[in-house]
Amino acid sequence: MPDEYDLPSDADPVVCDHCGAPFAEAELLALHRGIDHADALDASERDAFEDAYESEEERLRLFRLKALGALVFLYFGLLITYSVFA
Ligand SMILES: [Zn+2]
Repeated sequence: MPDEYDLPSDADPVVCDHCGAPFAEAELLALHRGIDHADALDASERDAFEDAYESEEERLRLFRLKALGALVFLYFGLLITYSVFA
């Protein structure tokens, strides 16, 4: 039995040719195909997966950097606040 998906009525998904799973963006579909259907990809689908994977890695690296910056700012902000008011 195929999976059923509960989509909003105004959704305009891109659908996987292999399993019918819907995705909001073509980049997410490219990532899904590369991970779940890696054996069935042609050259252009593989290129799309590699491009999507690299851009996802870059976004994750930036997110980690920002999260680390926020933690450092919070730590020293609280430390300085404590040293002033305590
Ligand atoms: Zn699929």
